[in-house]
Amino acid sequence: MKTSRIEDYLDSLFPNPQCELSYQKDYELLMAIVLSAQSTDKRVNQVTNILFQKYPTLKDISKASIADLEDIIRPVGSFRKKASYIRNIAVILLRDYEGIVPRSREQLILFPGVGRKTANVFLSEFYGDAAIGVDTHVERISKRLGLASRKDDVLQVEKKLMKKFDKTVWGKRHLQMVLFGRYHCKAIKPECQNCLLVDICGEKKKNL
Ligand code: SF4
Repeated sequence: MKTSRIEDYLDSLFPNPQCELSYQKDYELLMAIVLSAQSTDKRVNQVTNILFQKYPTLKDISKASIADLEDIIRPVGSFRKKASYIRNIAVILLRDYEGIVPRSREQLILFPGVGRKTANVFLSEFYGDAAIGVDTHVERISKRLGLASRKDDVLQVEKKLMKKFDKTVWGKRHLQMVLFGRYHCKAIKPECQNCLLVDICGEKKKNL
């Protein structure tokens, strides 16, 4: 009952949710997701626009100087680590995968900078595979709304969401929860006064 109310509300707010990262190719999406850690999609899009224009192929990225990649990537934070991830992802894709990002979480999580969340977001967005990426928004909203418990780690949250949501909508629910967290149920000062879930939300007393 509670889950269906949450799902109905998300459907009413975001009937056709879209990923806000810009990409043309499989590796561009994977790299954009890696760059998005601790950053905003807007900043990532600004950076990848420059990055993929200057280095239009995987081979170009694999041969780029780390110093130049760091300069380009700087606005999204953790730029040293991320520049190294991006170049190494390009090297591995060319060396082991003929330049094609594998459609396998087990293989994806072996790439530098790619964890379970990144792999799930990639598989769901690029291939339409059933997967729920639990990022900071999804985790926060799941806990506020009681879809998961406060003490759950991200894997436990993911497992609970997979049980509660029908498999056919996992990717859609992920996108909706990201958008809900980004624009309504923000980490600081969520917009509870406009939220129709306030009566079932564990956060309500603090924000009204
Ligand atoms: Fe988020 Fe506030 Fe709505 Fe709870 S009531 S889900 S904290 S916006």
